[in-house]
Amino acid sequence: MQLLRSVSSAPKMPRLRYRCPDCRDIHDGLPDLCFALPDAIFELDPEQRQARALVSSDLCVLDDERYFIRCVLEVALADHTDVFAYGLWAEVKARDFNRYAVYYNTEAPATASQFEGAIANRLPLTEETLELACAISLSNEEGMRPALRVLNASHSLHGEQETGVELSRALALVGTMRGFVTIID
Ligand SMILES: [Zn+2]
Repeated sequence: MQLLRSVSSAPKMPRLRYRCPDCRDIHDGLPDLCFALPDAIFELDPEQRQARALVSSDLCVLDDERYFIRCVLEVALADHTDVFAYGLWAEVKARDFNRYAVYYNTEAPATASQFEGAIANRLPLTEETLELACAISLSNEEGMRPALRVLNASHSLHGEQETGVELSRALALVGTMRGFVTIID
């Protein structure tokens, strides 16, 4: 007698979930590797931050002369339908910042959908990303953060955006964030 077997030879895709330190719930997928602030502001002591920086969840200004917006860089996960995302800040020109600020605050359609900037966070477990040139696209979808693309084709992060990352690397990146517990089954 022959045992019944699954006809599919594809390996079973693991289910990814995580426990979120903010709401203490379990969410599907992997958490974004995200930064609450641009590094230049994060590095300030609380007094300096208070005096020199204007801070919100998506827009920051430092010394009235450096402008930052929060973006997202999604990468495919190898052998998986889920995606992995970096929640990164980009430093942009005042003109582009102001344009985005209007868009962000009013949900008005973007007048210019793409501009350039520089990544404002140093990623863990990755070659230098601070000041890496990037293209930023404003989404027409409500509530979507601007999408960031690395321009330098020889940078490893550019490779990730083109071809995706292994699950093991995504898990290692998530492991650098405090408080998140990933569940794979
Ligand atoms: Zn949560």
